[in-house]
Amino acid sequence: MIEFADLVAAGRVRKDVPLAPFTTYRRGGVAAWYYPATTPESLEILVPPDVPVLVLGRGSNLVVASRGFPGLVIHLQHAPSEITIDDSHLEAPGGVPLPQVARRAADEAVGGLSFFVGIPGSVGGAVRMNAGCHGTETRDVLAHATTWNLRRGEKSRRGPDELGLAYRHSDLTDDDIVLSARFRGVPSTTEAEEAAMREVSRWRRHHQPGGTLNAGSVFRNPEGDAAGRIIDELGLKGLSRGGAHVSHRHANFIEAHPTATPEEIHDLMAEVRATVEARTGIRLEPEIRFVGFDA
Ligand code: FAD
Repeated sequence: MIEFADLVAAGRVRKDVPLAPFTTYRRGGVAAWYYPATTPESLEILVPPDVPVLVLGRGSNLVVASRGFPGLVIHLQHAPSEITIDDSHLEAPGGVPLPQVARRAADEAVGGLSFFVGIPGSVGGAVRMNAGCHGTETRDVLAHATTWNLRRGEKSRRGPDELGLAYRHSDLTDDDIVLSARFRGVPSTTEAEEAAMREVSRWRRHHQPGGTLNAGSVFRNPEGDAAGRIIDELGLKGLSRGGAHVSHRHANFIEAHPTATPEEIHDLMAEVRATVEARTGIRLEPEIRFVGFDA
């Protein structure tokens, strides 16, 4: 176990590092302290309670405010070569990109993980958010995840029920890091998995605003309905704040022009939410995590 103060003293933590390049929105301020971690062992850190912590994966579900994050950002960066496969189970460190999990599973004729090709997050982000698409969620394929608590210095291994995985939710807190996850696949063929991945990619090209700056669905779907359908029905596609606008392709996405500020994205989210509540009584809950904004 490494103490935060020792990391700083050893020069392994950098100061005032811009976070924009590490998020899919490509905007946001600096991290007061920034720690890139490339091995699961280097994540076993003890952080004092007065230092705020943000665990960062692929930044595909985040908007970081212009004023940045006034604490320690722990950035998981793991190579796909660290994926291991045995007996149709796939194990990967928390920082491995999900599309690489899908591709490696296909290469090794492991079925059931192809949906990950469409989610541009990391293994750890998928567990934290219970990411899912096309009828499958992380909890459906997770055997267990190994987590580390940054305040208590405790490691644990838990299955999907113990992690409280539910629709875009886990019981993990901001103090927990997913070090690694083990996924349950089923025997398949490379051809079948490649075809499944192609179908996921085709569907996304058709329904989502690919190639633009966004962080996926802005709001969780309310019980029995789709946030995108509600926003679309209220005619809010194209609504804008500065350089941010509600996607014409999918109403639950907010796209950012390269000149957009994080605050414009945040304010547009708040305006859509307030409009939906005023006109339908439905209170949408953000799925995207807004970091460094006033509540
Ligand atoms: P980040 O954005 O880096 O972080 C998100 C949250 O997870 C933060 O609270 C962060 O602290 C936490 N976190 C990240 N890594 C770890 C870790 N190792 N341990 C503990 N906590 C961690 N999501 C879906 O569910 N389904 C979709 O179909 C989908 N489609 C998307 C399409 C696009 C184009 C984009 C941009 C995003 C989409 N997303 C989708 C959202 C996003 O990819 C997922 O939520 C993903 O799981 C986030 O992973 P990340 O590594 O990018 O997390």
